[in-house]
Amino acid sequence: MSSKKKIPAKVRATVLRRDGAFRCVYCIFGRTSRNGQPYRATCDHVRPEARGGATVENNLVKCCQRCNDDKHVMPLHLWVRMLEEDTGLDPDETTLRTYQQMFANEET
Ligand SMILES: [Zn+2]
Repeated sequence: MSSKKKIPAKVRATVLRRDGAFRCVYCIFGRTSRNGQPYRATCDHVRPEARGGATVENNLVKCCQRCNDDKHVMPLHLWVRMLEEDTGLDPDETTLRTYQQMFANEET
């Protein structure tokens, strides 16, 4: 899964600042990556590029490497379910719901 997502630095900076209240918009706290790398803030395409998602601020969120890797090209509704099972987080308690609504029209 080589992801060569080129996100312009300016867009990336804007997204990281906008979502600055969270270490990760998905899991909130930010997790260690699957291969043991410490938490790192990344930008994720909510609607995956592979599914036609654009590299624009309103299709990008700040998230940890773990969520970025795990979500990969999953549509948001499937990812939410997986995240819920994985972390026990209730999306109602997270910003995820906001994003779900925000991106609801984007889902195919
Ligand atoms: Zn995360």
